[in-house]
Amino acid sequence: MADEWNMPSGELMKGKRGIVMGVANQNSIAWGISKQLAAQGAEIAFTYQGESLERRVRPLVESIGMDFMVPADVTDDESMDAAFAAVKEKWGKIDFLVHSIAFAGKEELQGSMVEKTSREGFRRAMDISVYSFIDAARRGAELMPDGGAIICMTYLGAERTVPSYNVMGVAKAGLEASMRYAARDLGPQGIRVNAISAGAMRTLSLAGIRGGKALMGTGRDWSFLKEDTRMEGVAGAALYLLSDLGHSIAGEVMHVDAGFHAVGVPDEPGE
Ligand code: NAD
Repeated sequence: MADEWNMPSGELMKGKRGIVMGVANQNSIAWGISKQLAAQGAEIAFTYQGESLERRVRPLVESIGMDFMVPADVTDDESMDAAFAAVKEKWGKIDFLVHSIAFAGKEELQGSMVEKTSREGFRRAMDISVYSFIDAARRGAELMPDGGAIICMTYLGAERTVPSYNVMGVAKAGLEASMRYAARDLGPQGIRVNAISAGAMRTLSLAGIRGGKALMGTGRDWSFLKEDTRMEGVAGAALYLLSDLGHSIAGEVMHVDAGFHAVGVPDEPGE
């Protein structure tokens, strides 16, 4: 669960305001990141997918003493216009943006990638999981006249094949490339753009992947640390990248997965 860690509080984000996109419930990675940013003094505007999620997200937001929430469906330009306009109207400018959004149909996330990927499924996965980042980065950067920091969330399936991850792996590869191009474009404006590659974590998104539980088991058993990826590590990396601690870091994919990404051949069972 996202909730159980001794979150370091402080002032690393004091005076900074930003947008977090992608809280769906208390297990969302975006929520773990938000709590850590808030504990360090950040003020956050939360975007959520639509009215049906508001009921779940509002109590979380209120539990950390905040109330700025705007709906934003990333597939709908008008909804994105309205969300970023609301932030502009209230704050004028922002310092950071967290993109923690992805989607692919259940039918795409099983079996053979070659067999299962339809044109429409591919288009939808790319639109929601990749284009939305480019779009949000552009809109976010317009609100960062004094520079800032942007992060997105990715997974090892971008770099290596993972069973059932399929078109989402293809999308994550596109997301990581988009992150680097955005870092190139926005760097001269003092905006640092980076990605966190988290190990498998128990969230709604993982539940959509056939064999998601096994992905978590392998991620834990093969990892150097022999443990699940912990929200505190992911949230800590986000804090690092979004605060001034992250100066000079841009275009980076930071792996927070207990070392799993660096394993070539796992230990023999029993050794
Ligand atoms: P999650 O289901 O809690 O978050 C996914 C979010 O995407 C939800 O808030 C959902 O509302 C949002 N979303 C989907 N379609 C949308 C749309 N059209 N408009 C607006 N929002 C939309 O799951 P999560 O695991 O916290 O996922 C967050 C990010 O982390 C994703 O990019 C995911 O790929 C990535 N990630 C997850 C894991 C993992 O194992 N859980 C590992 C690495 C990376």
